[in-house]
Amino acid sequence: LSSKLQSTFKSLSGQSKITDLNIAEAVREIRRALLDADVNYEVAREFTKKVKDQALEQDVLTSVSPGQLFTKIVYDELTQVLGGQKEEIRFASTPPSVILIAGLQGSGKTTFTGKLAKYLKSKGRNPVLAAADVYRPAAIEQLKTLAEQIKVPVYSIEEKNAVRTAKEALQFARSNAHDVLIIDTAGRLHVDEKMMAEVSEIKKAVQPNEILFVVDSMTGQDAVNTAREFDKTIDFDGVVLTKLDGDTRGGAALSIRNVVEKPIKFISMGEKMDSLTPFYPDRMAQRILGMGDVISLVEKAQQEYDEKEAKQLQQRITSDKFDLEDFQKQIHQIKKMGSLKDLAGMIPGVSQKLKDTEIEDNALDPIEAIISSMTPDERRNPQLLNASRKRRIAAGSGTSVRAVNDLLKQFAQMKKMMKTMTKMSKMGRAMQGLK
Ligand code: GDP
Ligand code: MG
Repeated sequence: LSSKLQSTFKSLSGQSKITDLNIAEAVREIRRALLDADVNYEVAREFTKKVKDQALEQDVLTSVSPGQLFTKIVYDELTQVLGGQKEEIRFASTPPSVILIAGLQGSGKTTFTGKLAKYLKSKGRNPVLAAADVYRPAAIEQLKTLAEQIKVPVYSIEEKNAVRTAKEALQFARSNAHDVLIIDTAGRLHVDEKMMAEVSEIKKAVQPNEILFVVDSMTGQDAVNTAREFDKTIDFDGVVLTKLDGDTRGGAALSIRNVVEKPIKFISMGEKMDSLTPFYPDRMAQRILGMGDVISLVEKAQQEYDEKEAKQLQQRITSDKFDLEDFQKQIHQIKKMGSLKDLAGMIPGVSQKLKDTEIEDNALDPIEAIISSMTPDERRNPQLLNASRKRRIAAGSGTSVRAVNDLLKQFAQMKKMMKTMTKMSKMGRAMQGLK
Protein backbone atom coordinates (compact mmCIF):
# COMPACT_ATOMS: atom_id res chain seq x y z
CA LEU A 1 0.00 0.00 0.00
CA SER A 2 1.17 3.49 -0.73
CA SER A 3 2.00 5.48 2.37
CA LYS A 4 -0.49 8.12 1.31
CA LEU A 5 -3.28 5.65 1.22
CA GLN A 6 -2.04 4.24 4.46
CA SER A 7 -2.32 7.61 6.17
CA THR A 8 -5.72 8.10 4.64
CA PHE A 9 -6.84 4.79 5.99
CA LYS A 10 -5.40 5.75 9.30
CA SER A 11 -7.55 8.85 9.57
CA LEU A 12 -10.51 6.94 8.20
CA SER A 13 -10.20 4.13 10.66
CA GLY A 14 -10.72 6.13 13.83
CA GLN A 15 -7.19 6.01 15.11
CA SER A 16 -7.65 9.06 17.25
CA LYS A 17 -8.61 8.39 20.83
CA ILE A 18 -10.36 10.42 23.45
CA THR A 19 -7.68 11.91 25.67
CA ASP A 20 -7.64 14.30 28.60
CA LEU A 21 -6.31 16.98 26.30
CA ASN A 22 -8.57 16.74 23.31
CA ILE A 23 -11.76 16.82 25.35
CA ALA A 24 -10.69 19.33 28.02
CA GLU A 25 -12.80 22.05 26.43
CA ALA A 26 -15.81 19.75 26.10
CA VAL A 27 -15.51 18.60 29.71
CA ARG A 28 -15.56 22.21 30.86
CA GLU A 29 -18.57 22.93 28.67
CA ILE A 30 -20.49 19.94 29.95
CA ARG A 31 -19.79 20.83 33.55
CA ARG A 32 -20.93 24.39 32.91
CA ALA A 33 -24.08 23.12 31.18
CA LEU A 34 -24.90 20.91 34.15
CA LEU A 35 -24.37 23.73 36.63
CA ASP A 36 -26.47 26.07 34.49
CA ALA A 37 -29.19 23.45 34.59
CA ASP A 38 -28.98 23.68 38.38
CA VAL A 39 -27.50 20.25 38.86
CA ASN A 40 -26.04 19.94 42.33
CA TYR A 41 -22.37 20.95 42.22
CA GLU A 42 -21.03 17.70 43.67
CA VAL A 43 -23.25 15.64 41.40
CA ALA A 44 -22.13 17.57 38.32
CA ARG A 45 -18.48 17.07 39.21
CA GLU A 46 -18.86 13.39 39.97
CA PHE A 47 -20.99 12.67 36.93
CA THR A 48 -18.60 14.42 34.55
CA LYS A 49 -15.61 12.65 36.03
CA LYS A 50 -17.26 9.26 35.88
CA VAL A 51 -18.22 9.63 32.24
CA LYS A 52 -14.81 11.02 31.38
CA ASP A 53 -13.09 8.01 32.87
CA GLN A 54 -15.33 5.76 30.84
CA ALA A 55 -14.74 7.71 27.64
CA LEU A 56 -10.95 7.98 27.81
CA GLU A 57 -9.15 5.83 25.28
CA GLN A 58 -12.28 5.34 23.21
CA ASP A 59 -11.78 5.42 19.47
CA VAL A 60 -13.24 8.41 17.71
CA LEU A 61 -15.27 8.19 14.52
CA THR A 62 -13.57 10.22 11.85
CA SER A 63 -16.56 12.37 11.13
CA VAL A 64 -16.78 13.86 14.60
CA SER A 65 -14.33 15.52 16.94
CA PRO A 66 -13.33 13.95 20.25
CA GLY A 67 -15.20 16.74 22.04
CA GLN A 68 -18.36 16.01 20.09
CA LEU A 69 -18.09 12.31 20.72
CA PHE A 70 -17.58 12.96 24.40
CA THR A 71 -20.70 15.12 24.47
CA LYS A 72 -22.62 12.30 22.86
CA ILE A 73 -21.28 9.83 25.41
CA VAL A 74 -22.36 12.16 28.21
CA TYR A 75 -25.78 12.51 26.63
CA ASP A 76 -26.18 8.74 26.31
CA GLU A 77 -25.06 8.15 29.88
CA LEU A 78 -27.40 10.85 31.12
CA THR A 79 -30.29 9.34 29.20
CA GLN A 80 -29.38 5.96 30.67
CA VAL A 81 -29.17 7.32 34.21
CA LEU A 82 -32.49 9.13 33.89
CA GLY A 83 -34.22 6.17 32.31
CA GLY A 84 -33.22 2.97 33.97
CA GLN A 85 -36.08 1.17 35.58
CA LYS A 86 -39.67 0.74 34.46
CA GLU A 87 -41.93 3.62 35.27
CA GLU A 88 -45.32 2.18 36.10
CA ILE A 89 -47.25 2.57 39.31
CA ARG A 90 -47.49 -0.64 41.28
CA PHE A 91 -51.06 -1.60 41.97
CA ALA A 92 -52.27 -4.01 44.63
CA SER A 93 -53.34 -7.47 43.51
CA THR A 94 -56.46 -7.00 45.62
CA PRO A 95 -57.84 -3.45 45.51
CA PRO A 96 -57.82 -0.84 46.78
CA SER A 97 -54.32 0.22 45.82
CA VAL A 98 -52.91 2.92 48.04
CA ILE A 99 -50.75 5.69 46.63
CA LEU A 100 -49.04 8.01 49.10
CA ILE A 101 -47.92 11.45 47.91
CA ALA A 102 -45.07 13.06 49.86
CA GLY A 103 -42.84 16.09 49.48
CA LEU A 104 -42.09 19.60 50.69
CA GLN A 105 -44.73 22.30 50.94
CA GLY A 106 -45.37 23.99 47.62
CA SER A 107 -43.71 21.23 45.63
CA GLY A 108 -46.98 20.47 43.83
CA LYS A 109 -48.38 17.49 45.77
CA THR A 110 -52.00 18.58 45.80
CA THR A 111 -51.93 19.58 42.14
CA PHE A 112 -50.33 16.26 41.21
CA THR A 113 -52.81 14.32 43.33
CA GLY A 114 -55.58 15.77 41.17
CA LYS A 115 -53.72 15.09 37.95
CA LEU A 116 -52.99 11.52 38.90
CA ALA A 117 -56.62 10.91 39.86
CA LYS A 118 -57.77 12.25 36.51
CA TYR A 119 -55.22 10.12 34.70
CA LEU A 120 -56.24 6.95 36.55
CA LYS A 121 -59.89 7.72 35.92
CA SER A 122 -59.22 7.93 32.22
CA LYS A 123 -57.68 4.46 32.52
CA GLY A 124 -60.96 3.12 33.84
CA ARG A 125 -60.13 3.22 37.53
CA ASN A 126 -62.33 4.63 40.28
CA PRO A 127 -60.10 6.67 42.61
CA VAL A 128 -60.86 8.45 45.87
CA LEU A 129 -58.64 11.10 47.45
CA ALA A 130 -57.69 11.49 51.11
CA ALA A 131 -57.10 15.00 52.43
CA ALA A 132 -54.33 14.24 54.91
CA ASP A 133 -52.90 17.76 54.84
CA VAL A 134 -54.95 18.58 57.90
CA TYR A 135 -53.28 21.66 59.36
CA ARG A 136 -54.37 24.33 56.94
CA PRO A 137 -58.10 24.44 56.15
CA ALA A 138 -57.15 25.99 52.80
CA ALA A 139 -55.29 22.83 51.86
CA ILE A 140 -58.38 20.66 52.20
CA GLU A 141 -60.43 23.23 50.28
CA GLN A 142 -57.85 23.27 47.51
CA LEU A 143 -58.03 19.51 47.14
CA LYS A 144 -61.83 19.57 47.18
CA THR A 145 -61.94 22.23 44.47
CA LEU A 146 -59.62 20.22 42.23
CA ALA A 147 -61.54 17.03 42.92
CA GLU A 148 -64.80 18.69 41.93
CA GLN A 149 -63.33 19.64 38.57
CA ILE A 150 -62.36 16.09 37.81
CA LYS A 151 -65.36 14.54 39.53
CA VAL A 152 -63.55 12.44 42.08
CA PRO A 153 -64.63 12.19 45.76
CA VAL A 154 -62.46 13.43 48.64
CA TYR A 155 -62.41 11.85 52.08
CA SER A 156 -61.71 14.24 54.97
CA ILE A 157 -62.55 14.49 58.69
CA GLU A 158 -63.05 17.36 61.12
CA GLU A 159 -60.29 16.29 63.47
CA LYS A 160 -56.78 17.48 62.55
CA ASN A 161 -55.35 13.98 62.46
CA ALA A 162 -53.54 12.93 59.29
CA VAL A 163 -53.01 9.30 60.26
CA ARG A 164 -56.63 8.82 61.16
CA THR A 165 -57.74 10.55 57.97
CA ALA A 166 -55.64 8.13 55.94
CA LYS A 167 -56.84 5.04 57.83
CA GLU A 168 -60.50 5.99 57.58
CA ALA A 169 -60.13 6.92 53.92
CA LEU A 170 -58.86 3.41 53.30
CA GLN A 171 -61.94 1.99 55.01
CA PHE A 172 -64.07 4.34 52.93
CA ALA A 173 -62.40 3.19 49.72
CA ARG A 174 -62.98 -0.46 50.63
CA SER A 175 -66.63 -0.08 51.46
CA ASN A 176 -67.36 2.10 48.43
CA ALA A 177 -65.62 -0.02 45.82
CA HIS A 178 -62.90 2.49 45.03
CA ASP A 179 -59.96 0.61 43.56
CA VAL A 180 -57.42 3.38 44.18
CA LEU A 181 -56.82 5.63 47.17
CA ILE A 182 -54.51 8.61 46.69
CA ILE A 183 -53.35 10.27 49.92
CA ASP A 184 -52.35 13.94 49.71
CA THR A 185 -50.13 14.81 52.68
CA ALA A 186 -48.81 17.94 54.37
CA GLY A 187 -45.34 19.25 53.67
CA ARG A 188 -43.15 21.77 55.44
CA LEU A 189 -40.98 24.35 53.79
CA HIS A 190 -37.94 22.40 54.88
CA VAL A 191 -37.37 18.86 55.96
CA ASP A 192 -38.21 18.56 59.64
CA GLU A 193 -38.65 15.67 62.02
CA LYS A 194 -42.33 16.21 62.73
CA MET A 195 -43.26 16.06 59.06
CA MET A 196 -41.12 12.97 58.51
CA ALA A 197 -42.60 11.30 61.58
CA GLU A 198 -46.11 11.95 60.36
CA VAL A 199 -45.58 10.71 56.86
CA SER A 200 -43.90 7.54 58.06
CA GLU A 201 -46.75 6.97 60.52
CA ILE A 202 -49.21 7.24 57.63
CA LYS A 203 -47.07 4.79 55.73
CA LYS A 204 -47.17 2.33 58.60
CA ALA A 205 -50.92 2.74 59.02
CA VAL A 206 -52.01 2.19 55.41
CA GLN A 207 -49.13 0.21 53.84
CA PRO A 208 -49.08 2.02 50.48
CA ASN A 209 -48.40 0.09 47.29
CA GLU A 210 -46.69 3.12 45.89
CA ILE A 211 -45.05 6.14 47.49
CA LEU A 212 -44.35 9.04 45.18
CA PHE A 213 -41.96 11.78 46.14
CA VAL A 214 -42.93 15.11 44.60
CA VAL A 215 -40.18 17.65 43.99
CA ASP A 216 -40.14 21.10 42.44
CA SER A 217 -37.73 21.07 39.49
CA MET A 218 -36.68 24.63 40.29
CA THR A 219 -35.10 23.61 43.59
CA GLY A 220 -32.09 22.23 41.79
CA GLN A 221 -29.40 22.45 44.42
CA ASP A 222 -31.57 21.53 47.41
CA ALA A 223 -33.33 18.69 45.67
CA VAL A 224 -30.52 16.31 46.56
CA ASN A 225 -30.82 16.75 50.32
CA THR A 226 -34.60 16.70 50.28
CA ALA A 227 -34.70 13.54 48.22
CA ARG A 228 -32.11 11.87 50.42
CA GLU A 229 -34.00 12.70 53.62
CA PHE A 230 -37.34 11.55 52.28
CA ASP A 231 -35.88 8.38 50.90
CA LYS A 232 -34.18 7.58 54.19
CA THR A 233 -37.44 7.95 56.07
CA ILE A 234 -40.07 6.54 53.72
CA ASP A 235 -38.11 4.69 51.03
CA PHE A 236 -40.23 6.06 48.19
CA ASP A 237 -40.84 4.21 44.92
CA GLY A 238 -40.74 6.98 42.39
CA VAL A 239 -40.19 10.65 41.77
CA VAL A 240 -42.58 13.26 40.39
CA LEU A 241 -40.77 16.25 38.94
CA THR A 242 -43.04 19.32 38.86
CA LYS A 243 -43.07 22.79 37.33
CA LEU A 244 -41.16 21.75 34.25
CA ASP A 245 -43.30 24.18 32.27
CA GLY A 246 -41.07 26.92 33.71
CA ASP A 247 -37.69 27.76 32.30
CA THR A 248 -35.72 25.46 34.56
CA ARG A 249 -33.54 23.01 32.67
CA GLY A 250 -34.39 20.29 35.13
CA GLY A 251 -31.02 19.49 36.63
CA ALA A 252 -32.82 18.26 39.74
CA ALA A 253 -33.65 15.13 37.79
CA LEU A 254 -29.98 14.20 37.54
CA SER A 255 -29.20 15.29 41.09
CA ILE A 256 -31.92 13.06 42.48
CA ARG A 257 -31.12 10.09 40.28
CA ASN A 258 -27.50 10.31 41.30
CA VAL A 259 -28.32 10.24 44.99
CA VAL A 260 -31.31 7.91 45.22
CA GLU A 261 -31.73 5.04 42.83
CA LYS A 262 -35.41 5.66 42.15
CA PRO A 263 -37.07 6.22 38.79
CA ILE A 264 -38.75 9.43 37.74
CA LYS A 265 -42.29 8.25 37.09
CA PHE A 266 -44.13 11.44 36.17
CA ILE A 267 -43.50 15.02 35.35
CA SER A 268 -45.87 17.92 35.83
CA MET A 269 -45.97 20.78 33.37
CA GLY A 270 -48.64 23.17 34.58
CA GLU A 271 -51.21 24.02 37.22
CA LYS A 272 -54.20 22.75 35.28
CA MET A 273 -55.61 19.27 35.62
CA ASP A 274 -54.79 18.26 32.07
CA SER A 275 -53.28 14.91 31.42
CA LEU A 276 -50.02 13.81 32.95
CA THR A 277 -47.01 14.17 30.74
CA PRO A 278 -44.98 11.03 30.22
CA PHE A 279 -41.33 11.23 31.18
CA TYR A 280 -38.86 10.85 28.30
CA PRO A 281 -35.31 10.31 29.54
CA ASP A 282 -33.75 11.40 26.25
CA ARG A 283 -35.68 14.66 26.12
CA MET A 284 -34.78 15.39 29.71
CA ALA A 285 -31.12 14.70 28.97
CA GLN A 286 -31.21 17.13 26.05
CA ARG A 287 -32.96 19.71 28.16
CA ILE A 288 -30.36 19.41 30.90
CA LEU A 289 -27.42 19.59 28.52
CA GLY A 290 -29.01 22.17 26.26
CA MET A 291 -26.90 20.85 23.42
CA GLY A 292 -29.33 19.56 20.83
CA ASP A 293 -27.17 20.67 17.92
CA VAL A 294 -24.08 18.70 18.79
CA ILE A 295 -26.09 15.63 19.56
CA SER A 296 -27.95 15.63 16.27
CA LEU A 297 -24.67 16.14 14.47
CA VAL A 298 -23.14 13.08 16.07
CA GLU A 299 -26.29 11.12 15.43
CA LYS A 300 -26.16 11.98 11.76
CA ALA A 301 -22.59 10.81 11.59
CA GLN A 302 -23.69 7.48 12.95
CA GLN A 303 -26.56 7.13 10.54
CA GLU A 304 -24.16 7.31 7.63
CA TYR A 305 -23.30 3.83 8.62
CA ASP A 306 -25.95 1.47 7.42
CA GLU A 307 -27.84 -0.02 10.34
CA LYS A 308 -28.59 -3.43 8.92
CA GLU A 309 -25.12 -4.02 7.68
CA ALA A 310 -23.77 -2.88 11.01
CA LYS A 311 -25.86 -5.51 12.71
CA GLN A 312 -24.59 -8.31 10.50
CA LEU A 313 -21.06 -7.09 10.82
CA GLN A 314 -21.47 -6.69 14.53
CA GLN A 315 -22.43 -10.32 14.79
CA ARG A 316 -19.40 -11.33 12.78
CA ILE A 317 -17.12 -9.07 14.73
CA THR A 318 -18.33 -10.03 18.17
CA SER A 319 -17.97 -13.70 17.33
CA ASP A 320 -14.60 -12.78 15.83
CA LYS A 321 -15.60 -14.01 12.39
CA PHE A 322 -14.86 -10.85 10.44
CA ASP A 323 -12.41 -12.08 7.84
CA LEU A 324 -10.79 -11.12 4.58
CA GLU A 325 -13.83 -12.26 2.66
CA ASP A 326 -15.86 -9.61 4.50
CA PHE A 327 -13.07 -7.19 3.83
CA GLN A 328 -13.33 -7.93 0.14
CA LYS A 329 -17.07 -7.24 0.24
CA GLN A 330 -16.39 -3.97 2.02
CA ILE A 331 -14.04 -2.93 -0.74
CA HIS A 332 -16.68 -3.67 -3.38
CA GLN A 333 -19.08 -1.63 -1.34
CA ILE A 334 -16.71 1.32 -1.15
CA LYS A 335 -16.02 1.14 -4.89
CA LYS A 336 -19.73 1.20 -5.63
CA MET A 337 -20.05 4.45 -3.74
CA GLY A 338 -17.85 6.39 -6.10
CA SER A 339 -14.41 7.91 -6.21
CA LEU A 340 -12.34 7.54 -3.08
CA LYS A 341 -11.31 11.15 -3.03
CA ASP A 342 -14.88 12.38 -3.29
CA LEU A 343 -15.92 9.95 -0.65
CA ALA A 344 -13.27 11.16 1.76
CA GLY A 345 -14.22 14.75 0.98
CA MET A 346 -17.79 14.14 2.06
CA ILE A 347 -16.78 13.26 5.59
CA PRO A 348 -16.77 16.42 7.68
CA GLY A 349 -13.72 17.01 9.81
CA VAL A 350 -11.28 14.94 7.77
CA SER A 351 -11.89 16.70 4.49
CA GLN A 352 -9.46 19.42 5.48
CA LYS A 353 -6.70 16.99 6.28
CA LEU A 354 -7.29 15.12 3.08
CA LYS A 355 -7.18 18.15 0.87
CA ASP A 356 -3.52 17.65 0.05
CA THR A 357 -3.69 13.90 -0.11
CA GLU A 358 -3.85 12.33 -3.51
CA ILE A 359 -5.95 9.20 -3.52
CA GLU A 360 -5.89 7.25 -6.74
CA ASP A 361 -9.15 5.70 -7.61
CA ASN A 362 -7.39 2.45 -8.42
CA ALA A 363 -5.69 2.49 -5.02
CA LEU A 364 -7.79 -0.40 -3.87
CA ASP A 365 -6.97 -2.58 -6.87
CA PRO A 366 -3.86 -4.24 -5.41
CA ILE A 367 -5.81 -5.08 -2.27
CA GLU A 368 -8.49 -6.73 -4.31
CA ALA A 369 -5.87 -8.56 -6.33
CA ILE A 370 -4.18 -9.88 -3.20
CA ILE A 371 -7.37 -11.08 -1.61
CA SER A 372 -8.46 -12.69 -4.89
CA SER A 373 -5.23 -14.65 -4.96
CA MET A 374 -5.98 -16.24 -1.61
CA THR A 375 -7.85 -19.47 -1.19
CA PRO A 376 -11.25 -19.22 0.52
CA ASP A 377 -9.66 -20.95 3.51
CA GLU A 378 -6.96 -18.32 3.74
CA ARG A 379 -9.50 -15.52 3.53
CA ARG A 380 -11.37 -16.95 6.45
CA ASN A 381 -8.23 -17.75 8.44
CA PRO A 382 -5.48 -15.20 7.78
CA GLN A 383 -3.38 -16.95 10.44
CA LEU A 384 -2.77 -19.67 7.83
CA LEU A 385 -0.66 -17.23 5.86
CA ASN A 386 2.89 -18.40 6.39
CA ALA A 387 5.87 -17.20 4.39
CA SER A 388 5.44 -19.63 1.50
CA ARG A 389 1.74 -18.92 1.12
CA LYS A 390 2.49 -15.20 1.16
CA ARG A 391 5.07 -15.68 -1.63
CA ARG A 392 2.49 -17.55 -3.69
CA ILE A 393 -0.12 -14.82 -3.18
CA ALA A 394 2.35 -12.05 -3.97
CA ALA A 395 3.26 -13.75 -7.23
CA GLY A 396 -0.36 -14.46 -8.10
CA SER A 397 -1.46 -10.89 -7.54
CA GLY A 398 1.56 -9.29 -9.11
CA THR A 399 2.53 -7.62 -5.87
CA SER A 400 5.17 -8.27 -3.21
CA VAL A 401 5.28 -10.16 0.10
CA ARG A 402 5.63 -6.80 1.72
CA ALA A 403 2.39 -5.63 0.11
CA VAL A 404 0.69 -8.76 1.42
CA ASN A 405 2.00 -8.06 4.92
CA ASP A 406 0.86 -4.45 4.70
CA LEU A 407 -2.57 -5.57 3.71
CA LEU A 408 -2.82 -7.91 6.66
CA LYS A 409 -1.81 -5.06 8.92
CA GLN A 410 -4.45 -2.82 7.34
CA PHE A 411 -6.95 -5.57 7.80
CA ALA A 412 -6.22 -5.73 11.51
CA GLN A 413 -6.78 -1.99 11.75
CA MET A 414 -9.96 -2.30 9.78
CA LYS A 415 -11.21 -4.84 12.26
CA LYS A 416 -10.52 -2.39 15.04
CA MET A 417 -12.39 0.35 13.23
CA MET A 418 -15.33 -1.96 12.77
CA LYS A 419 -15.36 -2.65 16.45
CA THR A 420 -15.54 1.07 17.18
CA MET A 421 -18.35 1.56 14.72
CA THR A 422 -20.27 -1.35 16.13
CA LYS A 423 -19.94 0.19 19.55
CA MET A 424 -21.28 3.46 18.19
CA SER A 425 -24.25 1.89 16.47
CA LYS A 426 -25.03 -0.12 19.57
CA MET A 427 -25.18 3.12 21.50
CA GLY A 428 -27.49 4.53 18.90
CA ARG A 429 -29.81 1.57 19.05
CA ALA A 430 -29.89 1.58 22.85
CA MET A 431 -31.07 5.16 22.63
CA GLN A 432 -33.78 4.34 20.11
CA GLY A 433 -35.03 1.65 22.42
CA LEU A 434 -35.59 4.10 25.24
CA LYS A 435 -37.79 6.45 23.23
P1 GDP B 1 -48.27 21.30 47.67
O1 GDP B 1 -48.05 22.29 48.76
O2 GDP B 1 -47.12 20.35 47.56
O3 GDP B 1 -49.56 20.60 47.77
O4 GDP B 1 -48.26 22.13 46.29
P2 GDP B 1 -49.48 22.60 45.40
O5 GDP B 1 -50.03 21.49 44.60
O6 GDP B 1 -50.46 23.36 46.23
O7 GDP B 1 -48.72 23.58 44.40
C1 GDP B 1 -48.06 24.74 44.85
C2 GDP B 1 -48.14 25.79 43.76
O8 GDP B 1 -47.47 25.37 42.61
C3 GDP B 1 -49.56 26.07 43.31
O9 GDP B 1 -49.70 27.44 43.04
C4 GDP B 1 -49.71 25.25 42.05
O10 GDP B 1 -50.68 25.80 41.20
C5 GDP B 1 -48.32 25.34 41.49
N1 GDP B 1 -47.99 24.16 40.67
C6 GDP B 1 -48.07 22.85 40.98
N2 GDP B 1 -47.61 22.06 39.97
C7 GDP B 1 -47.22 22.92 39.00
C8 GDP B 1 -46.63 22.73 37.69
O11 GDP B 1 -46.37 21.64 37.21
N3 GDP B 1 -46.38 23.87 36.98
C9 GDP B 1 -46.62 25.12 37.48
N4 GDP B 1 -46.31 26.15 36.72
N5 GDP B 1 -47.14 25.31 38.69
C10 GDP B 1 -47.46 24.24 39.44
MG1 MG C 1 -50.96 20.58 49.23
